[in-house]
Formats: sequence, C-alpha cells, structure tokens
Amino acid sequence: MTVKTFPRGIFLPHYKEFSEHEAITSISLPKEIIIPLQQHIGAPCQALVKVGDRVTAGQKIGQSEAFVCAPIHASLDGTVIAVEPRPNFNGKNVESVVIAVDPDQIEPTWPERDTDKLSTAEIRSAIKEAGIVGMGGATFPTHVKLSPPKPIDTIIINACECEPFLTCDHRMMLEMTEALVEGARLIARVVDAPHIVFGVEINKPDALEAIKSNLGRDEHITIVPLAVKYPQGSEKQLIKASIDREVPPGKLPLEVGVVVQNVATAIAVYEACRYQKPSYERVLTVSGDAIVRPSNLKVKIGTPIGFIIKECGGIKGAPTGVESDEEWFSVPLPKADPAGKIILGGPMTGWSQSRLDIPVTKGTSGILVFSPQMITETDYKDCVRCGKCVEHCPMFLYPNFIGLYTEQGRYDLAAEWGAIDCFECGICVYVCPSNRPIVHFVRETKEQIAAAARAAQNK
Ligand code: SF4
Ligand code: SF4
Repeated sequence: MTVKTFPRGIFLPHYKEFSEHEAITSISLPKEIIIPLQQHIGAPCQALVKVGDRVTAGQKIGQSEAFVCAPIHASLDGTVIAVEPRPNFNGKNVESVVIAVDPDQIEPTWPERDTDKLSTAEIRSAIKEAGIVGMGGATFPTHVKLSPPKPIDTIIINACECEPFLTCDHRMMLEMTEALVEGARLIARVVDAPHIVFGVEINKPDALEAIKSNLGRDEHITIVPLAVKYPQGSEKQLIKASIDREVPPGKLPLEVGVVVQNVATAIAVYEACRYQKPSYERVLTVSGDAIVRPSNLKVKIGTPIGFIIKECGGIKGAPTGVESDEEWFSVPLPKADPAGKIILGGPMTGWSQSRLDIPVTKGTSGILVFSPQMITETDYKDCVRCGKCVEHCPMFLYPNFIGLYTEQGRYDLAAEWGAIDCFECGICVYVCPSNRPIVHFVRETKEQIAAAARAAQNK
C-alpha cells in the first residue's frame, strides 16, 4: 500500500482510543434548545418565527435572500420562548431562536425518492433547502461551494479526521458507509466531476475497507491511503497529498479543478437528496481525559453542551452536587468545576469554552473535556528565534514574523508575512517553546485588515 502525504506538518499523538470504538448513539431530550440564526459563513438568517409560535422538527425557522447563506431549521418539536442574542461558541452573541422542547416528540418521517431521477438543479436545490454547510467546521454553505465558476474534474472526500480525539467521522464511515458513498456520487453529479477520491488516514483501516467494499466496480472512485499527519485534512494539504496538485496562495481548490467535502457533509447531502431531510442534527464526538463516558453521539442542533456533557456521565471528579440540570446550565461553569478546559471542535483548531449553555451548531464536530493535568497554560514569552514554527508550517509561512509584527500593530507587515494565507491549523502554537499565541495574532491581523478594507469602502 502506497501511503501519501504533504510536505511539513507534524505528527501528533492522536488520542483516538478514548472513543473510536464507541458506536453512534443518541441522548435524551434537553428541556430547551438554542438555535443560532447564523451557523455558516455568509449572511445571517432572519427569524421566520416569533415568541409563542409552535414549531416542529425540520421546520424552517430562519432564512435569508442572500446567496451565501444556509437556512436554519428547528431540531425538535416545541414552543418558541425567545428570539434574542445568545452567546455562541466564538464568544459573540448571535441572534437565536430559543425553543422549550415538548416532552413527547414525534420523530419526523421523510419520504424516500429515487436520487437517480434527480436533475443537477434538483440536487443543488435539495442541498440548499436542507441548509447544508461544511460540517467539518468550515461551515461554508455547500450549495455555494457546488456552484463553482470553473470546471471541476475531481471531488475529494476528506476522510482524514486528522485532529486528535475526534472520531465521529470515523464512526460515520463505518456505520453510514452507503450514505457516504452515495453522497459523494451526488456531489460529483452536481458539478459534473468525473473523478471522486476518498482521502483516508491509515489509522482507520476498517473505514478504508468499509468504503472499498461499498464501491463495487466503480472505476471513477479511488481511495487514497494517507499518512497520519496533521493537518492532513486541510483542503490544500489534502489536495497535494491525494492528487499532487498545488492550490496557489490566496486561491481556492476550484482553481485546480477540485472541490473538497467532508464525510459528514457528504452524508447530509445524501439525506437531503434521498429524503429531503433538513440539516437539523449531527454526529459529534465527546471525548477528553476528563469526560466520564467518551462517546460518539447523534445530537440535535441547538442542544446545550452542558446537557451533552451530563448525558455522557459528566466531568470526572465532579461532586454529586453538579448533577442537577440547573447547575449544568449555570453560567459560567459550575463552581466546583474540575475540568481544566472544555473545547468545541478539535484540540488544534477548536474554541475554548467558559460556559455550558453554548449550543451545538452545524459545524460542531466535538466537545472535548480536559483535566487540568492535560493543560499546560503558561504566559507567553518573547520569540527566541528557534525557527520551529517556520520549519513545520504547512503553508510555508513565517509565523514568527506574523506574531512580532502583530504585537507592534504593523498589521500590513504581518499580512505580508502570510497572516491572510494562514488557515489557523495551530501547529506553530503547538511547537513554539515560548508559547506564543500565533493563531490569536493571525486572527487579530485578519480582523484589522478586514476592518481597514471596510473603512476604505465606506469612504
Ligand atoms: S502560521 Fe497558520 S498555517 Fe502556519 S502553522 Fe501557524 S497556524 Fe498553521
Ligand atoms: S517557534 Fe516560537 S520562539 Fe521559535 S521562532 Fe517561532 S515564534 Fe519564535
């Protein structure tokens, strides 16, 4: 077996053993869900419901006329009790529909249809109506990504799941293989791409076999075994490793005739086309050394993370007093909080959380709960010019200079040294002996450059 990879990057301990053998299960009903009206890159949705309205699972409750947008759906039956800004995973307040959940739910049924009979326009429309976004965390609306202005010859399914701890994509590859393969075929049909490539890291040999045995004799589909290396699943690195094409700096994969979609997105596409099922639930991993029961769960969008952590047995070492719903939803974290850190997403690119009432959104791939022993938080120091960040940066950038110039407020120079091309993989932070928060510097520079561009436009 030839195993491929990309230049630079880093070999990380992957910690998949916590949850990789846990089959996907469900949790009980939360009392309340909070559904943000923006869970995607692009324009926010406007609420289609008001306080007091009854809603049912799958009902559209938010939409916008903007092209780069994805509609939002209720994930459970219930009554709208608020439409107001609520805290989101990124620390910002986002307009949200809060729903008091009915204790008795009727699982919606979705009529099957023959996907072979769907036209390209019908597939794209089903994806748009279902509100599907990149579920690996990018959250770019999928119908927009599948409307490229240039010809596409290859669809790459990102089946790497290269972030440590996360195993939900792996479980979906094993448990929903047929939907995954059919979803990939539908995606290829939309953009008329003759080739489909599954890029799978070799620490998932069972998933590799499962996909292979589902392909039959389809010569348009290839499986490429990839090294277990971070960030193998990022678009540019995946394209380089799988089909040896290089996306130019500042450009998108479509420049080299490629569209990349992740496993969960491909499955959502299949469900939208086959059943017209909206994107109102997702599979995520709950893991980390401080969670009692590491799990892979199918959860409704809008479920508060505190409720999910409680459903997984809570945080190791938490006193019994933190068992009531009230305390699990208390803000900030319960006083007797024994967790060192809670992260939404993977440990390299995820977002640290300080509250338990943050809802799961379409892009939430994991909830990680770490003990204080897993966390090494110290103040950062000056750059010692060791060059490690430069040596490992998969984008061939100069993270050291990005950091130095951001500290000096010279955002123009930080941009020149690559801040805009940085996709925030976190490797430079991981390897830096001075603990320098380079991803934070990159985000600051990007915000400042965007603000300057807006100001220039408004002049
Ligand atoms: S500069 Fe950006 S792309 Fe390069 S290692 Fe750091 S976070 Fe990753
Ligand atoms: S790894 Fe840290 S200390 Fe070393 S050059 Fe990069 S920023 Fe400086």
